[in-house]
This record gives sequence, C-alpha cells and structure tokens, in this order.
Amino acid sequence: MTRNTRIFAIAVLALTLGAPFAASTSAQSDWPLHGRTNDEARHSPLARINASNVNQLGLAWHDKLDVDRGTEATPIVVNGVMYATGAFSIVYAYDARTGRRLWKYDPQVPRDWAVKACCDAVNRGVAVLDGRVYVGTLDGYLVALDARSGKERWRVDTLIDRSRAYTITGAPRIVAGRIVIGQGGAEYGVRGYVTAYDAKTGRQAWRFFTVPGNPSQPFESKAMEMAAATWTGDKWWIYGGGGTVWDSMTYDPALNLLFIGVGNGSPWNRKYRSPGGGDNLFLSSIVALKADTGEYVWHYQTTPGDNWDFTATQHIISADLKMGNETRPVILQAPKNGFFYVLDRRTGELLSAEKYVQVTWAERVDMKTGRPVETGAGDYEKEPKLVWPSPYGGHNWQPMSFHPGTGLVYIPAQELPAVLASDTDFKLRGLPSWNNGLVFAGIPEDRAGVDGLLQITGGKLIAWDPAAGREVWRVNQAHPFNGGVLTTAGNLVFQGTADGRFVAYSADQGKVLWETNVQTGVIAPPISYEIAGEQYITVAVGWGGALALVGGDVAKAAGVRSISRMLTFKLGGKAALPPLAPEPEIPELPELTASKETVDKGREIYHRNCAVCHGAAAVGGGVLPDLRRMDANRRLLFDRIVRGGLPGRGMPGFADVLNAEDVRAINAYVLKRAWDEKSEKPRNTRN
Ligand code: CA
Repeated sequence: MTRNTRIFAIAVLALTLGAPFAASTSAQSDWPLHGRTNDEARHSPLARINASNVNQLGLAWHDKLDVDRGTEATPIVVNGVMYATGAFSIVYAYDARTGRRLWKYDPQVPRDWAVKACCDAVNRGVAVLDGRVYVGTLDGYLVALDARSGKERWRVDTLIDRSRAYTITGAPRIVAGRIVIGQGGAEYGVRGYVTAYDAKTGRQAWRFFTVPGNPSQPFESKAMEMAAATWTGDKWWIYGGGGTVWDSMTYDPALNLLFIGVGNGSPWNRKYRSPGGGDNLFLSSIVALKADTGEYVWHYQTTPGDNWDFTATQHIISADLKMGNETRPVILQAPKNGFFYVLDRRTGELLSAEKYVQVTWAERVDMKTGRPVETGAGDYEKEPKLVWPSPYGGHNWQPMSFHPGTGLVYIPAQELPAVLASDTDFKLRGLPSWNNGLVFAGIPEDRAGVDGLLQITGGKLIAWDPAAGREVWRVNQAHPFNGGVLTTAGNLVFQGTADGRFVAYSADQGKVLWETNVQTGVIAPPISYEIAGEQYITVAVGWGGALALVGGDVAKAAGVRSISRMLTFKLGGKAALPPLAPEPEIPELPELTASKETVDKGREIYHRNCAVCHGAAAVGGGVLPDLRRMDANRRLLFDRIVRGGLPGRGMPGFADVLNAEDVRAINAYVLKRAWDEKSEKPRNTRN
C-alpha cells in the first residue's frame, strides 16, 4: 500500500465509521462529573442502547464491594477508567470495559464513626480532575488520590469540631478549579458550611457557613449577619442550628455561580431551635454563591422555619427552559417538602412551585411572597400528627434526571407519611441519640397497623413537565426509597428499585421495556458511557440508607438484604450473578418472662437509642442485624454487646448512656417483638 492509498483507506474507514465515532468524542462518551455535566442533568447523549434494542441488555461485568451497606455512588468514568465508592468511603478503580480492578483505596474510617451517620455509612462518589481522584471520607477528611495508583497525595481535615457528629457522605464537586465539599450531621446538632480547597495543594480557598454561630463572636460574613436576624432564643448555636450541605451542589461557570442545597434545622423542632419563631436562614434553602469566592449572591428558602426535616439538599438541575414565549435560565428542585420548584438561576426569582406528591403541611406556595401557606396539619406541638411528606421526603437524595429531548424531569418520588410528636423532655443528648426534639410515635406493631401503613406508602417514578408544573406520566411502585434516575438519548429512563430490580422505561411514555433481578435493593443512580463503540450502563447496587435503617416494616417489606456490588450492562452481555444465599433460619425463642412495664420501658429506650440503626419497632430493614433474629448466644451476650459495642463492626458501646437494667428492658422488648413476628402468619413481602 502506497502512502497515498493508505491515507485514502484511512479516510474511507473514517467516513464509514464517521457517524458513530463522531458521536463518540470523549466529552460524550465519558461520565466525567457527578451529574455528567455541570448542569447535573444526568442525561447521556448516547443512543446505541435505545428503546428498540434495550430488551437485549445483559450483564457485562460485576464486582462485589467490601461492605454490605447502603451503596449510593455515582461512578465517574474518564478515559476508560471507572472510579466508584462503597460504604465507609472506600474507593475502587476499574477498567470500565472489563470490570478488572485497577486499585482500591480504603481511607480506614473508624467503623464506629458510623454512629454519627444518621443515614448509613454511605458515600455518593468521587470527583476526578487532572490525574487526581477526590473523596470525602465519612470521618470528615477530603483526600486527593493519584488517579493511576490510588496513592494518597494529600488529606485535609474539613471539620470545624471533631467532637460533633459531622460526617461526609456527599461527592466533592469541581468548582472553578477547586474542590468543594460539605458535611452531614444535622440530626445530632451541628452547624452547616461548605468549603472550597485548592485542587493541587488542598489549601482552603473559602468557606461559607449556612447558619449563624454564637452571636458573642463576630459574624463570618455579611450573609451571617443577615441570617442571624431570623433566629431567636439563646441556644441555637449550642444545638448547632443545622443547615448542613450534605449532597447537592450545581455549578454554572457562565454565571460564576454555585448553587448549594441546604439542609434541615438542628433540632428539627423549631420551638426548641428558635423559640420566638423566625425563618432561620439559610435552613431548607437553595443559596447561590459566587463560585470563585464563596460570597453570598441570593437565596430561596423552600421551608421557612423548618419543623419537619424538610431539607433542600435534594438534587438541583440547571436547565434552559422554554416557559411561555421566552427561554429562562432556571434551576429545578424537588426538595423533601413535596413542592417542585422552578427558579430563575440568575436571581432566585420563583417561577413555579407545584405539589409533586401528597402534601398536608402546606396548602400551596404563595407566588407573590414565595412562601408556603401552612395548614396547621403539620403542627405537632400539642398532639401527634400524621404529616405528608415525612422526614424521608416526597423525594430524598436519589438524583433526578432532565431529558432535553422530552423536556421532562424524572423524579424518584415517594408517598410516605409519618406521625410526628414533640419531645416534651428535649435536651441536647450525646451520641447515638438524634437531637430532633421529636419522639418516635405512631409506629404500628400489630399486623393490621403495619398493613395499613404499607397500603398508604409506595414509590413513584414521575415524569414532570417543569415548564407547565404538572405530571405527564407516572409509574407507581410498591415500595418507597427507589434508586436515582438516568435518562439517555435512546428514549430511555433507567432506575433501580427498592425491591431488587433494575428497570428501563421509555422516556416519552413510561412503558417498561426491560428489567432484571439484581438481588438487592437499589438506591444509587445509574450512569452511561461508551468505549470503542460500545455503550455501557452501570449502577451500584446495595440496599441501605435512611429508610432501610430506620424504616422497620416499611423497609422490610421491600424483601431485600444489602449486597453491595458494581453492575455494568451492555447489549448481549452474558455475565451472571452468583446465586443468592438462602436467608438464615429464624432461631428458637426463649419464654418471655418480663412484665409489660419492662417491655414498655424497653420500647422507649430502644426507640431513643437503637431504632435509628436497627429499625422502628425492632424490625430490621435488611441492612444491619434484625435483633428479633438473635441466636441464643447473642441473647446471652446482649448486655456485653450493647454496652461494650462490637469494635470494627460499627456497633458502638452504650455504657455511658445505658445501665444493665436498661439493657435488660431492651432485650425484653426485642424478645416480645420476636414473638410477635412468630405469631404472625408469614406474608408475601414482594408484591
Ligand atoms: Ca435530615
């Protein structure tokens, strides 16, 4: 072949392959950022897998992760390498085509730090920039790793007070060349903030606090001076105030703005947090900051005077939306409080706020003032109230997706109320107690009560028209707390479910086009990427998170256990998961000899100390041990385990808060609940 003919041959080859390869620039084939693009749309322009061939999708590869707990990561794919995280902030690097592990990095988070994590020892993923991988660790460090080797380059402590129950579960974001991270912890009494670090050195560039600190100290910023005027009383800085930025951030490079989603009050109960009333800025708000300096620009508060754990930390999507005759630069959010918001992202002007799930605490949002009109049905001050949505939210952290082709936002929503009751004996308690100023109430322990609760709860995948402020289609799901969402240019919506399926729907109509059994609940959002002309879909699976830990019978009904894995699919994929191990037998139970008084006392102590991990009404949700299933040996060692803890397993010792009599009462309550379970007829938990 002469030089000229070779050039000709290459040109012909390029022409032949032109169409697919033209669509395969690395910008399109990778998943380089948390939301794929800075707008966090979580939409893939790839379309080799599409509505007409998705039924041929099969498993390409799978990898078992180290810890079977909530798995929430969005994997990042850059140049054929996938970077993902599992529980306890462990980072994994893979050949994205074959699933071969390239390296693993374990930040050695002390396992009992998990007691500071309200909602499991989860991690939502890494950021990758210029050959470095950034991860926030559960115990509050931001770590930079070498992308090739997984070796630590630097590590900074992001916490202002290591004695408080701060955690990092969110993914770091790349903002104006820096790495930005926030924390969680507002269930336990902390003060929220976000910090930007120099990507090369880890040096702090700026920090923005979300709630005011002790007023005897100078304000950190003009914004804090403004915020302090909306707080009352003399204890909020002792309680912490809350307002953690534990998940969503969206960056608009053109406007030089960073939008942060701010969390709930600490405590939840506003009567204790700010006894004279007040909006309590910037709780439950979207705040726009100058991306390069962290200075305040504007805010929109979704729930003034939050009283219900109504975080605005939920996924924020930036989009240009045709509304009426004009195209508006907007941000979109479906926070926990049940309203879907459209804001002008230049100013924070409210453009739309419509209910996307059942909402009883507010009648509507007043479009003039931008404030919700409270109904009083959420006021639990004098008596317990059944409130919609619950602190789990009409939508929780699980990311949505915006499909520019359909113009729709796909929301992993849920219908799930809660009975809320004020804690008349509120004081700041040490770990592991939540400091919410509320008590567990109205949790059914009888069959009829549980069935009644299950009947009114469930998941909803909603296709929402943000311009019109209305639902276009909906898929009802038997269980709440389903996975995050991915849309693709192949007219597809991908979502995993609480009950262990991974499903593809048509984006225009919501028709089920394909589904597969993944053996465990899915909460994480899928991604898509392309290598050498082949499109892949990846999802991290592994049941866990807030509902799975605390939800008791509601979580149990999904009928899954936590098995953490990375799963990657492609057309014609032939891999298979190993068979599911059988459930252990229910052990024999000893006689219940304790008095009703002891059982009742055990119920109260259990719900103050144990329920946030082992489940409401002592029903395990499939992640941590179901205490009703304790064997005789564990029952015998119960006091030693509860008060001494299980080091290395994430079970803290409760010697400081519980005495031997308390533990005996818990043991009696758990045994009572085990007998309750035995006397029930077995029921089919999978609908
Ligand atoms: Ca919260």
